[in-house]
Amino acid sequence: MWRRARGDWLVSGKDLSPEAYEVYRHSASHLMASAIERLHPGVRFAIGPPTQEGEKFGGVGFYYDLDMEHALSPEDLPRIEEEMRKLVAADLPFEREEVARGAAIALFETRGQDYKVEMLREIPDGEPITLYRHGDFVDLCRGPHLARTGEIRSFRLLAVAGAYWRGDETKRMLQRVYGVAFPDEESLETYLRNLEEAEKRDHRKLGKELDLFSIDERFGPGLIFWHPKGARVRNEIERFWYEEHFRNGYDVLYTPHLAKERLWEVSGHMSFYRERMYSPMDIDGTNYIVKPMNCPFHIHVYQSRLRSYRDLPLRWAELGTVYRYEQSGELHGLKRVRGFTQDDAHVFCTPETLAGEIGRVLAFTLHMLRTFGFDAFDVYLSTRPEKSVGSDADWEAATAALRAALEESALPFTVDPGEGVFYGPKIDVKIRDSLGRSWQCSTIQVDFNLPERFDLSYRGGDGAEHRPIMIHRALLGSFERFFGCLVEHYAGAFPVWLAPEQARLLPVSEKENAYALRVGEKLRASGVRAGVDDANETLGNKIRKGREERIPYLLILGGREAAAGTVSVRKRGEGETGVLSVDEFLERIRGEIERRETGLVPREEKRSNR
Ligand SMILES: [Zn+2]
Ligand SMILES: [Zn+2]
Repeated sequence: MWRRARGDWLVSGKDLSPEAYEVYRHSASHLMASAIERLHPGVRFAIGPPTQEGEKFGGVGFYYDLDMEHALSPEDLPRIEEEMRKLVAADLPFEREEVARGAAIALFETRGQDYKVEMLREIPDGEPITLYRHGDFVDLCRGPHLARTGEIRSFRLLAVAGAYWRGDETKRMLQRVYGVAFPDEESLETYLRNLEEAEKRDHRKLGKELDLFSIDERFGPGLIFWHPKGARVRNEIERFWYEEHFRNGYDVLYTPHLAKERLWEVSGHMSFYRERMYSPMDIDGTNYIVKPMNCPFHIHVYQSRLRSYRDLPLRWAELGTVYRYEQSGELHGLKRVRGFTQDDAHVFCTPETLAGEIGRVLAFTLHMLRTFGFDAFDVYLSTRPEKSVGSDADWEAATAALRAALEESALPFTVDPGEGVFYGPKIDVKIRDSLGRSWQCSTIQVDFNLPERFDLSYRGGDGAEHRPIMIHRALLGSFERFFGCLVEHYAGAFPVWLAPEQARLLPVSEKENAYALRVGEKLRASGVRAGVDDANETLGNKIRKGREERIPYLLILGGREAAAGTVSVRKRGEGETGVLSVDEFLERIRGEIERRETGLVPREEKRSNR
């Protein structure tokens, strides 16, 4: 395996077998560790497992946890890289050695590597213990490795972070150094360019720069404050969302944010979802819990009257704000939060209409995502897990219905056997953003469990009581996460229909201020979000500011425009596009808004242009 893997690596460059990845990754992480040891004698190493970093670009990611006095900073990384290059140039062989546990413990004890000693003591008797050496460095490792350090080509160290030994916060805090390695310099460059672009687009950074939202630890980590500009975008998404839901045969519900603990016992959440729910609060001597999900509330509305098969399907949607516990270390900007608004809906239907309803939901999902400029998806169909409720016939019918809907959509999909939720099979749709990163947003889940637990029924055509089936679905997922993805997808340059400020009027001098205010009024009266920059600033500064704020249209108003009743148009990304009368401009921008133009080049076109 080792030999073949090495051959693959060397011959075909980027097309690596999984084994070759492993071998390369391993060898690169040993190389890094040995370089650190040369620079910082006495460093003690813990573990150095693989990461997914760089994989999309044909590279391998790795890190190493270590313990030493000197606190590494980003400035240390180039020095370590330099030392790594020396070891590559020395082209040292990687040597494998099988040893007895006692000998290995003695070796690492003399080298002061007590984390390795601790790990060695835990290796079960009889398991072979192998060491890998190159130069003065020796590590406990299963291997396999490359033959020589000279085979490691292009690498970069990315970051230093803190991590607890064994991931246990009662244990010692170690230093973690992250790196990536590539088969050639070109792939590394491509990866680094992409990384730089991702950093520039980071929604936490842009969120601050563009004044879209904030999170304040003093009020609570993972809780989001939407500022006026972010709220504008969200409101526009919500308006679109409501319109489309009514058009697609949904009704809308509003339900409470909390309910008695008893409700969550009936729903089963108190047993299978407890660790994600917040502690109860006492109201008049009764325990209430803030909702982690909207489902039981929609069920309550279903149960508020007798239902007949003629009433079904019922499609009920809610922008439901839920609260779920996430460990503080897991929180990440808008993408992992503790309170968020789901674009939730539940469809109550008969077994006969289930397949049709799933098809509708999937088509609706794709329509929504495509409107926001997402045109590449990773789709998964998760089937019955070992532990599950519901009859074989139900599972088969529901899985077949999900599969049929996917086939109808012509989207390629992956089957995840046994990865369904215990109460039913599901479809997950991940969106691929403009940097090629995948984000989980939409999910469509069939549920046999809750209708059972709440004893839901409808009167059938035969006059008897029947059990409806529920579909849980979220198209965008959560507003917070989806918005975070949008910010990065567009690099903060929202399309005209979503932009917080769609057009800004820039009077060239004070003399045109009155004209600018009049045009601003007119645009706003016609439903365009227009602002006026009448600050006592040069035109150049006003334009720069407008560009920094990623405003789609900057309209320059000089003496000539004021006299003729026109505006000189500068479009984001296109520059000056001519002088238009105010009405002509209005027609143009309103057309773009109504068509919800994304301004993104569709992926297909991008490809054919190359
Ligand atoms: Zn290794
Ligand atoms: Zn639900």
